[in-house]
This record gives sequence, structure tokens and C-alpha cells, in this order.
Amino acid sequence: MNISVFLGAPGSGKGTQAKKLAQSYGYVHFSTGDMLRAAIQAGSEVGLQAKGFIDRGDLVPDGVMISIIESALAGLSKDARVLLDGFPRTVPQAQALDSKNHTAVTRALFFKIPEPILITRLTGRRTCRKCGESFHVIFLPPKTQGICDRCGGELFQRTDDMEEVVVRRLEVFKGQNERLMDYFRNRRCLFEVDADRPVDEVQGSLLRMLS
Ligand code: AMP
Repeated sequence: MNISVFLGAPGSGKGTQAKKLAQSYGYVHFSTGDMLRAAIQAGSEVGLQAKGFIDRGDLVPDGVMISIIESALAGLSKDARVLLDGFPRTVPQAQALDSKNHTAVTRALFFKIPEPILITRLTGRRTCRKCGESFHVIFLPPKTQGICDRCGGELFQRTDDMEEVVVRRLEVFKGQNERLMDYFRNRRCLFEVDADRPVDEVQGSLLRMLS
């Protein structure tokens, strides 16, 4: 299996890029954030376990996350090309992937972006309740206010995109990121992409790094 992981702060564009790459180039995309939100909506046990952590902006415990991603990967064929967006977020999560040969990380791509931009991006983000598509009140407004361009679903602000929670999420990210980067640097598979550019330009750089 060929596994690329997208690293970077919340709001750095990992999800937007991974979704586009999956739609246009046949990558299998797993977003652990989306998986957790689906579990919460379904009222499953994992969802119940995760909700409090997500609403506070904290990380869901490693054990829960590792078993979610292991079962997602277990169903894939050996020649699948996979993009993991939002996983790993800690060194133990990275080690868990690497501990099994068929899920070892091929590349880690770090989305580099200045912090003040992240706050504006996250607090202005609006998400479709139905299909999960993201919009932005200033940078990417929907054609009709409050309505998703893609599926007509209702747009809402995620609880964890409110300013107080955003600040906490960025703190949590900074607390883990250096160690995670060092881990992949030592593995010699870390690439950095300047994520403070238009979506198509970032995508071009990612495609070059992934090929
Ligand atoms: P995201 O949509 O990727 O920003 O994830 C939203 C929230 O889900 C995060 O703030 C965490 O609470 C939780 N989460 C997602 N992925 C992970 C992970 N790999 N490890 C721990 N918590 C996670």
C-alpha cells in the first residue's frame, strides 16, 4: 500500500486538498475528523467517546484513533494509494502505522502556513451538514447564503470552529507537531508545502511531491 499522510495545523487546507486529489486522481482518502463527526452523528460508541474531546478542541485518545484507522485500512487492496488527512497527529499514532509493514507511511507532507491566517480561515469556515463540503464567509462564500452549492444542504459553523476552541486546537497542534515532524524527518520521508497559496497552486505542488 502506498500511504501519504498530510500533516499541518487545523485550517491549513489538508482536507480541501485531499478531497480534490481523491476526486480527480483516484486516491483513497480518509479524514479522521470526518470519520469522528460521522460517528457522532450516528450516535455510535466511538462517537460518544470522542464528542467531548472534539468540542473542547482536545485530541481523542490514541488508542481510539489507532483502531479507527487500522480498521479503515484493513479493507483496502495492496495497491491502493491512500491519503490520510488528520492522522497521525501524535508520534504514537505514527509509530502504530509504521509498526505494520503494509501500512508504513511512504511520505509525510507538511502544510506550512502562518498562524494568523489559520484563525481567520477556521473561524470563517462554514460546513455543509449533508455532504461535508467547506465554504468560507469571505474567501469562498456559497452562491446562496447558508446553502451548500454542491448538494443544497444547510451550512453551519462547527462547534470546534468557534474562536475559543480554535485557539485551543492550535495550542494542541503546536504541542505535538515538532515531535511528529522530527519523527518523519528521521524517517527521511518529510516534505514541506507552502500552503498559503491558491488551492490550485498548492495542488500542483502536492501532485509533484506525490509522484
Ligand atoms: P479535524 O477535522 O481533522 O480538524 O479533526 C477534528 C477533531 O477531531 C480534532 O480537533 C480532534 O479532536 C479529533 N481528531 C481528528 N483526528 C484525530 C487524531 N488523529 N487524533 C486525535 N484526535 C483527532
